[in-house]
Amino acid sequence: MTFGETMVALRGSGPLRLGGTMQVSVAGAESNVAIGLSRLGHRVRWAGAVGADEAGALVLRTLRAEGVDVAGAAADPDAPTGLILFEPRLPEVTRVHYYRAGSAGSRLRADAVERAFSAAPPRVLHLTGITPALGPDPLSASRHALQLARQQGALVCLDVNFRSRLWTAERAAAVLREWVPSVDVLIASEDELSLCLPPAEQDAERAAQADPVAALAAQAAPLLARGVGEVVVKRGPAGATAFTGDGSLHRPARPVRAVDAVGAGDAFVAGYLSALLDGADLEERLERAVTTGAFAVASPGDWEGAPTRAELGLLGAPPGTVVR
Ligand code: ATP
Repeated sequence: MTFGETMVALRGSGPLRLGGTMQVSVAGAESNVAIGLSRLGHRVRWAGAVGADEAGALVLRTLRAEGVDVAGAAADPDAPTGLILFEPRLPEVTRVHYYRAGSAGSRLRADAVERAFSAAPPRVLHLTGITPALGPDPLSASRHALQLARQQGALVCLDVNFRSRLWTAERAAAVLREWVPSVDVLIASEDELSLCLPPAEQDAERAAQADPVAALAAQAAPLLARGVGEVVVKRGPAGATAFTGDGSLHRPARPVRAVDAVGAGDAFVAGYLSALLDGADLEERLERAVTTGAFAVASPGDWEGAPTRAELGLLGAPPGTVVR
């Protein structure tokens, strides 16, 4: 189960100020993960809030079409669905503009999350650091979800996903540090791990800075000591490295022609959780994660290119391959 804000996404083809046409879709970190898991054949529930408007209907319709259970989702009559504009500015640079202040997603309340939990206790709760940044209600909802997951024995996965436009590093760190002891699988980018650590323990990491993996290991160790089972670091084109009580394991990225890197992190999480739900070992979890991450990078859109289980093997086919 997961929840968060999913917005209507408009994707232009060039500088926004020149106008032109836009593609209409939906985007949200948690729903990207939900869609990725559903495509891989898992049952997944999304319990966010949208406005009681046509944009909200598009969000819910898209998630339903992707096989995501939205029975727990709320339609807020007093706030609009949020909007995100993607502006491809250079081949490798996309600007993102948000219109989400006061949106229905930023008013998601703890009682909605409670209803979603009571429908059926989940095996896994997936949270991101975006939801608590949206406002006091989503922060309480996230805290409540953590509590319910603990009570019900669900595994908790947290993707740090720090968004500097939504809150400061100091405010994010205060919340993330409070959550760490309740997290089983912590997923972060290389520069996000320090947000989860008390300042005193960030010094050890600085001392080891010369070797990037040693630096990450030094940051992961205090998180593992606080009870996190697995610290998984997304490293873009360098792949991913996981740290557990037994040591570390690295998987290189799967080489692909990069088309659109947005959503790679969410796709990675979907692959990781999919293998975890299958009972796969750490190596297989990382392998599926770098594979689904590569699919996202090689396809336009946040979630549109997410593979089904049968498609996982397509990556790495020689150029010009025709599947008949
Ligand atoms: P985003 O916030 O844009 O979704 P992120 O910073 O959370 O991204 P990344 O580390 O960029 O996450 O990407 C997640 C995973 O996707 C990486 O660990 C890697 O396995 C895969 N990946 C990212 N970039 C590439 C690439 N250029 N080629 C192949 N795989 C990639």
